[in-house]
Amino acid sequence: MIAYIERFVHENDVDSMPEQDTAAEQDRGDVLPLFNGVDLHGTVEFAGCGCGSDAGKDFGGTHFTEPLAVIRPSNSADVAKVVRLASRSPHLTVAARGNGHSVNGQAMAHRSLVLDMKSIESRIDVDPAAELADVSGGALWEDVLEHCVSRYGLAPRSWTDYLGLTVGGTLSNAGVSGQAFVYGPQTENVTELEVVTGNGDVLVCSKNQNPELFFSVLGGLGQFGVITRARVMLQPAPDMVRWIRVVYSEFSDFTRDAELLVTRPAGDSFDYVEGFVVTNSDDPVNGWPTVPLDTNQSFDPTRIPRNAGPVVYCLEVALHYSNEDPPFTVDMRVERLMGGMRVKEGMRFEVEVGYVEFLSRVKRAEKEAKANGIWEAPHPWLNLFISKTDIAHFDRLVFQNILHHGVGGPMLVYPLLRSKWDSRKSTVLPEGEIFYLVALLRFCFPYPKGLSVQEMVVQNQEIVQTCTNNGFDFKLYLPHYNSTDDWKHHFGNQWTRFQGRKASFDPMALLAPGQKIFPRNW
Ligand code: FAD
Repeated sequence: MIAYIERFVHENDVDSMPEQDTAAEQDRGDVLPLFNGVDLHGTVEFAGCGCGSDAGKDFGGTHFTEPLAVIRPSNSADVAKVVRLASRSPHLTVAARGNGHSVNGQAMAHRSLVLDMKSIESRIDVDPAAELADVSGGALWEDVLEHCVSRYGLAPRSWTDYLGLTVGGTLSNAGVSGQAFVYGPQTENVTELEVVTGNGDVLVCSKNQNPELFFSVLGGLGQFGVITRARVMLQPAPDMVRWIRVVYSEFSDFTRDAELLVTRPAGDSFDYVEGFVVTNSDDPVNGWPTVPLDTNQSFDPTRIPRNAGPVVYCLEVALHYSNEDPPFTVDMRVERLMGGMRVKEGMRFEVEVGYVEFLSRVKRAEKEAKANGIWEAPHPWLNLFISKTDIAHFDRLVFQNILHHGVGGPMLVYPLLRSKWDSRKSTVLPEGEIFYLVALLRFCFPYPKGLSVQEMVVQNQEIVQTCTNNGFDFKLYLPHYNSTDDWKHHFGNQWTRFQGRKASFDPMALLAPGQKIFPRNW
């Protein structure tokens, strides 16, 4: 274990070695004068007072590096001042930190400046007639939901499963959940942004105004600008959700039904389609006991065929409805949609829940995880987009083999449609119309009760290597690489465009250094 920590120390240049302490002291001496005369509405806290400790870690819990200063900006003008200030130094960089729910230090700034985006004046301005909301980049999606639903009966169209994430943080990646097959990721559901570029300019952008900046920033891994405001598309919020899970022992039946649902004509499918893999066992964390949706439901394992493999598959769907809809019409819609599906008797579970309760489902899991200590434990998560052409092979090699004991948390797998993603935006995807999100959301008790971080990281590497060795068409989602060559490979034929965008909007490479794509002054 000690050897492993040392490895991370070297990998991340953590500020804890004596010679580095001296260097940090020197940096502090250099940076303090830069703030003289800079009139910020927000506040600055310099390293050494312990205040930056949150900014030096993230949800992943494997990367640590203390910044020189944490700036709590009040508005976009403050953000612009900090970016310009950094440009006057030969080495400073600036990381916007949303809610720090990255898992590989992406929102950190080694011996540099962190902008705590949650401190930006909270703003959620709804235009009910236009069904749009202007929200600050540091707003949490859970606050956007609460505000829009409770005051206007409206809600954003596309979500993440967990809502304790900031608007700017998810828009820098994509933001996907079970609604993305209908509306695309969250990056497809904003019409305008206010951005502070790496040049220190505050610009408004959309498809028509500064379009290159708009497309660059969405899915841009924080490389081109800091999102200080986003205009989010809304729709009338339903009152209720019929939430259903169906278990399959055959991966081919699961994918057939999932693909059938996500390719039905617009308005003629469920409102949410996801899926996950569980071990074919009574393990309370990894196995089929996690499938039932209510405490009064139980899973009958005798219904699983004897020849089933080491894992089984659960399709999860949801249908929205309003309190005015007569129950029998909701039943009819559900049964019509499920009509063509290969549902086996005793393998279907369902509940009725309020819409906000449904969207807040991971919040409840968070409370439990915090109570038993696994929320604070390290989370070396792996997220992949894998082409439909390779997903069955992936199932055999990874789910049924490498991961047949599970990952101590959800193993999501569900189809998405490429045509719902505008290719002018920065996120890169596999080829082909249908691809799957695979999310290995490890929740393990801290070592030695659970696997060591090293074991989990090695297993992730083995999975990525398996995809590479078998020539799978795949991309990492929420990618993490340490070398420019790996990033070039990740972006493939989009690399030149990505690089060109960097040269236009952040030529000194001040922004989002934790992604390790471009070194300062590249
Ligand atoms: P941070 O981790 O703080 O930042 C992420 C990156 O964005 C950094 O590079 C940072 O510099 C940059 N950034 C942050 N704010 C801004 C800004 N305002 N402007 C420009 N750049 C900025 N993702 C999904 O798509 N779907 C899910 O269902 C989902 N569920 C999750 C559940 C949990 C429990 C966790 C921990 C993560 C989940 N994620 C999911 C991943 C999540 O979307 C990303 O990690 C996201 O970046 C986290 O948002 P954040 O606000 O914490 O961003």
